[in-house]
Amino acid sequence: MSETKEYKNYINGEWRDSKDGKTFEDRNPANWDDVVGTFPLSTKEDVEDAVRAAKETYPKWKKVPVPKRAEILRRAAEILLERKEEISRLMTREMGKVLKEARGDVQEAIDTGFYAFGEGRRLFSQNTPSELPNKFALTFRQPMGVWAVITPWNFPSALPSWKIFPAILAGNTVVFKPPSDAPAVAYEFVRALVDAGLPPGVLNLVYGSGSVVGEALITHPDIVGISFTGSSETGMRIAEVAGKQLKKISLELGGKNPQIVMWSADIDLAVDGAIWGAYGTTGQRCTATSRLILHEKIYDEFMHKFIERAKQLKIGYGLDETVEVGPVINESQLKKIMKYVEIGQKEGAHLELGGHRLTEGEYAKGWFFEPTVFTGVTPDMTIAQDEIFGPVLSVFKVSSFEEAIAVANNTRYGLSSSIYTRDVVEAMRAIEELEAGITYINAPTIGAETHLPFGGVKHTGNGHREGGWTAYEIFTEWKTVYIDFSGKLQKAQIDTWEE
Ligand code: NAP
Repeated sequence: MSETKEYKNYINGEWRDSKDGKTFEDRNPANWDDVVGTFPLSTKEDVEDAVRAAKETYPKWKKVPVPKRAEILRRAAEILLERKEEISRLMTREMGKVLKEARGDVQEAIDTGFYAFGEGRRLFSQNTPSELPNKFALTFRQPMGVWAVITPWNFPSALPSWKIFPAILAGNTVVFKPPSDAPAVAYEFVRALVDAGLPPGVLNLVYGSGSVVGEALITHPDIVGISFTGSSETGMRIAEVAGKQLKKISLELGGKNPQIVMWSADIDLAVDGAIWGAYGTTGQRCTATSRLILHEKIYDEFMHKFIERAKQLKIGYGLDETVEVGPVINESQLKKIMKYVEIGQKEGAHLELGGHRLTEGEYAKGWFFEPTVFTGVTPDMTIAQDEIFGPVLSVFKVSSFEEAIAVANNTRYGLSSSIYTRDVVEAMRAIEELEAGITYINAPTIGAETHLPFGGVKHTGNGHREGGWTAYEIFTEWKTVYIDFSGKLQKAQIDTWEE
């Protein structure tokens, strides 16, 4: 596992270096001496080549019958399944997610591939009666052209699969810019499709920075759509550029997800949920539980049990199967977390647990941070509003269901949400009143399944949903067709039907 590999771009069916030969390194966040690989630091010209290849391939690819495209995706999913353990271990090494979670990430891509295979025999459209006799009114889904796919590092295999499988099943071609902090898994994802027989030019992989490769892609006139998952800041930049060029965009952005625990809840179950929701993937999930809203009647019991559990969490390198919390992704993210801990204290929240970087022994060469809990948090505090993207949980005490919902909704984000209660009325009201794209009842804020719509309201996105059948709405456009076989001129809204 200490091998350093040299990776290349994949453009028009060829593995290539960047035009000017420059590279960047990808290092293990649990041990920065471990260099996972070197990758092309691509230029604008590399993006030009990739977009040209995707554009030239598009007219041929869109003619391939959808079930035939789907066959290739099925084979890719089977290859990912065969290589699951190898890719999972690589993922843990390059971005720190513990092995059990890395396996889940790869499994998500496998599931999405098999779902896409099934969709190849569906991709349903709708037909409807015409208002005029001897006339059919039909609809079809059509592909759109070349899509740019830009993903973050926290789900290095699942997120590309959510975008690339539906995009190419629908008949589009793609240029994929993977995250600089998890580039090796992106290579494995692309390699599975190449080995499955995907024709040259359908999927092109260009490594490099967001500021050069990302910008060149989002501003390129031949890109019809941008499918992006990442921070709200980058999402806003993409929306601005795309707005000026009328590109289609799908944006999946940040979250500040609440878990509410009401007094009737099963406390042990709710503690399990909060531990997993807050510290799974070291809090670096868009759906991570970053706000815990506790009813005052159970507050003391819950917090006592929660803190005891959080203290026991084993932190370390995720290839050790007993480790529960891995490192954070890099130094700048670690510094950002430390800054928020400082702000939380300055604004008057109480640091109940953690709050420090770990630097001794096995932690000496990694970006490790303690599971952290702030209590006495009020909704106006910075740590209650900003997405920290680390193992930092803000706890609120409330005295009613109404107050719990108000605190939960007091955020610009709206991705995931959860309530633990045994009161069926509270559960039903929460489903209706929580402002979020996803609501869990008696389950944590993380754990989406691939065949259901995934996405958020408010500043979490721009209204699209990935996952399941809704992903195909993003990557297709509707064609409406009228077929008039009456043999005479019929005017809609003007002529009336007569026998
Ligand atoms: P990020 O900094 O926005 O980066 C995401 C991707 O965008 C990376 O590939 C990055 O490239 C690229 N990029 C950066 N600047 C760009 C630009 N100007 N133009 C085009 N591309 C650009 O986000 P991150 O820190 O990697 O990811 C964490 C964020 O993702 C969190 O906010 C999290 O909530 C969100 N997220 C959301 C979901 C969801 O479904 N809602 C899922 C997972 C994560 P480089 O890597 O080269 O900088």
